[in-house]
Amino acid sequence: MSAQPVSPAAPHARGRGADPVLEIRNLSVDYGYDEPTHVLRQVSLTLNRGEVLGLAGESGCGKSTLAYAATRLLPPPGLITGGEVIFTDRDGTQRDILTLDDRALRASRWQDLAIVFQGAMNSLNPVHRIGRQIADAITAHRPGMKKPEALEKAAELLDLVGINPDRARDYPHQLSGGMRQRVMIAMALALDPQVLIMDEPTTALDVVMQRQIVEQIADLRERLGFSVVFITHDVSLLIEIADRIAIMYAGEIVEDAAALDVYRAPRHPYADGLLHSFPPLRGPRRELGGIPGSPPDLASLPTGCPFRDRCAHAFDACAAIQPELVPSAVPGDDPARRVACHLHTPALVEAAGFSPRLLPPALTHPAP
Ligand code: SF4
Repeated sequence: MSAQPVSPAAPHARGRGADPVLEIRNLSVDYGYDEPTHVLRQVSLTLNRGEVLGLAGESGCGKSTLAYAATRLLPPPGLITGGEVIFTDRDGTQRDILTLDDRALRASRWQDLAIVFQGAMNSLNPVHRIGRQIADAITAHRPGMKKPEALEKAAELLDLVGINPDRARDYPHQLSGGMRQRVMIAMALALDPQVLIMDEPTTALDVVMQRQIVEQIADLRERLGFSVVFITHDVSLLIEIADRIAIMYAGEIVEDAAALDVYRAPRHPYADGLLHSFPPLRGPRRELGGIPGSPPDLASLPTGCPFRDRCAHAFDACAAIQPELVPSAVPGDDPARRVACHLHTPALVEAAGFSPRLLPPALTHPAP
């Protein structure tokens, strides 16, 4: 596979100690051709080696589109209109996934990046035994491997994800929802990928099974050392598993911060609303508030901040100027923490005479 020339790292990726394995830079995606809808607008994100990066937001905010675009699996009418997806190999070689030719892309999939799709039942072939499906995935990428060896590897992978290898002869319908999702994780791990992208891997499961899958992923990450992008609408689940959380709204990242920081004191009003829309899986109970209104139509976004119609703290600048991701303005916050909200542009707040002292402490006061 040939290394592609890549442009310098995005500024936010150069933090002290950062070891990026995947850098999404200014990724933009449109749906439709004549009058395209801009569903992703210049999204930049960095996944560091060994890290779990959570990606959260309501349905339709673009998080799955981001995963599919980054892995070049976006079906028509989706069209990548700009950006780079830089993968850095263990030896430091970099390649832009978006510019790989077909052969290099096939080699990269499953070994560099693997994806676990939403809805395990739909992703597994109902008429083939699960052991064979895993073995087929292995031999498709390792043509030199003989079938008995691939079946043996499939049994090992099932064991790795906590399924008795004897179940390799089962068909998908003979397994519970949680087991099918584990099979999908086993399949994704078949070629020892460095990055695992998981698109709503627990959405169809009950809370107990969700917890088991999340613990399993954390355990496998610890043992195998891969990095994870974990996509979900349930931000409380991310608090359990993620090192960092990026919150998406209307095709953009609106907050990108350490998971604990988001939990303690979300800085974007939408992140705050999202956090108060789900009961926490552990710790003290929190009052659930939800977010009024619905997400905007991406085909006709309002001017200024796309969240302003739903935001209790909107002021004049919010209608006129589109916020960009900037470092949090709250003293003491992690300098790498970024927020797309005018409350973090002191000049705009001062010019409006808008007092941050009247805002909920979580948004603008130093974290407890
Ligand atoms: Fe609310 Fe304005 Fe911040 Fe948007 S920019 S989240 S409308 S305060």
